[in-house]
Amino acid sequence: MHRWPPDILGLGDAVKKYIDDGNSLSIRDRSGVIKELEDRFAAIHDRKYALTVSSGTMALCSAFFAMDPQPGDEIICTAFSFHSTASSARIWGLNVIFCDVEPDTGNIDVSKLERLITLRTKAVVSNDMWGHPCDKDVILAICRKYDLLYIEDCSHAHFSEYKGKYSGTFGDIACWSFQSLKFLSGGEGGILLTDNFAFYERAVLLGHYSWRSLQTAATPGFTELGAS
Ligand SMILES: *Cc1c(COP(=O)(O)O)cnc(C)c1O
Repeated sequence: MHRWPPDILGLGDAVKKYIDDGNSLSIRDRSGVIKELEDRFAAIHDRKYALTVSSGTMALCSAFFAMDPQPGDEIICTAFSFHSTASSARIWGLNVIFCDVEPDTGNIDVSKLERLITLRTKAVVSNDMWGHPCDKDVILAICRKYDLLYIEDCSHAHFSEYKGKYSGTFGDIACWSFQSLKFLSGGEGGILLTDNFAFYERAVLLGHYSWRSLQTAATPGFTELGAS
């Protein structure tokens, strides 16, 4: 039986205490525990901007929206992942070209990536299956060579390391799920990180249509880490 909210690792007790302490579960801007989580997650990954969202799927949706997708644009996506790695791009009409995966890791096979690139390719999307990081250096080199964006779906790979750096520190945008079965969970939830203010701003505008968008759009840079 699935119950809501999922009571994993005492999360229910933590939420109850949070409410009993007089806090509201609904935070409309970048303040309180939302700001705390975003600041810490961004700092751990040494990235500038963090945006918490309702799910990993919404983080991916926001990331693809942030790319300002145009009709006919394509992404090259790993063929082995949870469906929303690819389906969240279809929401914006992006054409998804699947790249085969390595038989041993299940990760995108970088030796098969380059031949899938066309003039319409906008981004490469990877997953780190079961926490095993994909070959990020090669993906980045290919993305640089062809002027493509790199979107990391790190929903299997909270704090996985590739050559001494965490997953999610490589892509133009990195997305995580905090769903109840992931390595780091909030019951449900998601987050995206980026160093690019334009991507961050578009991601905020998509799902945070009131207070936070007004703050973000009116004062570019207001969420620089360290600024209040
Ligand atoms: C779980 C998962 C998602 C989606 O996350 P939700 O929070 O369930 O929406 C996306 N990609 C991968 C690789 C996942 O494992």
